[in-house]
Amino acid sequence: MIIIKKKGDVLKKTRILTGGLLAFIVVLLVACTTPTNNEQSNSGVDEVPPSDKLQVTATFYPMYEFASRVAGELAEVELLVPAGTDTHGYEPSARDIAQLSEADLFVYNSPEMETWVPTVLDVLSENGEVAVVEAASQITLEEPVDGSGHHGGDEHGEDDHHHDLDPHVWLDPVLAQFEVQTIKDAFVEIDPDNREIYEENAAEFIGELNQIHSDFQEAFSGAQQRIFVTQHAAFGYLASRYNLLQLSIAGISTENEPSPAQMAQIEQMIQRHSIPVIYKNTDSAGTIADTLAQEAGVEVAELHSLEGVTDEERDAGENYLTIMRKNLEALKRSIQ
Ligand code: ZN
Repeated sequence: MIIIKKKGDVLKKTRILTGGLLAFIVVLLVACTTPTNNEQSNSGVDEVPPSDKLQVTATFYPMYEFASRVAGELAEVELLVPAGTDTHGYEPSARDIAQLSEADLFVYNSPEMETWVPTVLDVLSENGEVAVVEAASQITLEEPVDGSGHHGGDEHGEDDHHHDLDPHVWLDPVLAQFEVQTIKDAFVEIDPDNREIYEENAAEFIGELNQIHSDFQEAFSGAQQRIFVTQHAAFGYLASRYNLLQLSIAGISTENEPSPAQMAQIEQMIQRHSIPVIYKNTDSAGTIADTLAQEAGVEVAELHSLEGVTDEERDAGENYLTIMRKNLEALKRSIQ
């Protein structure tokens, strides 16, 4: 396998996607490379013998789905962070690092989300050869918006998990397309013989993402009430895409606790704008949202950040597209 070494693009940030976009690929080369011997999943008939497939490891659910859609039958994609785990506070185990070191391609969102990745890349570089793609590398991350609607960093973190910039780009159906493109470019770079297949797969998926984008646009274009209140501030990019205002109770990290003053401020906004519903996260406990809803006398609904899609959800046929449609329906209860 030919791996193109490409350095210096780590900090490249652009929203422009036309022409000449190259995935940011860090290539970690060490003399001794062992062939991958990951256990083969999906027993049954495969079009390509499993041993010939690329071994891909993706951090959390959207990265897994985006990589899987681009790769189609050409890769085995493994999800690193188990469903039901708090992705924001995740720390990789030794076993995770071993799995990573055997992958041909490692897909993650950004160091602002998977804050542990830079350290692990240092370890990986000592163990083997892995191509790494930062899916959000072509997107300019923005400062999070706090509960009062002001921009500002997440000040609550007492450890390495706090975020200076908002990592939740995958929840904007347009920025998700950028991530799919970047992942596609990474596949093309490590496996140029199959370029056409990756291009086709990516184009098909991007078409579906664009349809979701149109549906959001259409749903909210004439709305008078454009504010929504959510426990976990995962929907900032989605909000700015559709000209909405996200007020968050707990900030962009799932570990934060709001102060009483912040709670009071949000409750005031809820009353002032007659906001009928506040959202908790499907994939985390929503106790703060419940408390606030009770105090404010409004209903609670759910938004899904896609950070931890459970096995049950996947078995039931849920995926990025179905979950985003549910988010759209849920948001319609506030945005009217
Ligand atoms: Zn989040």
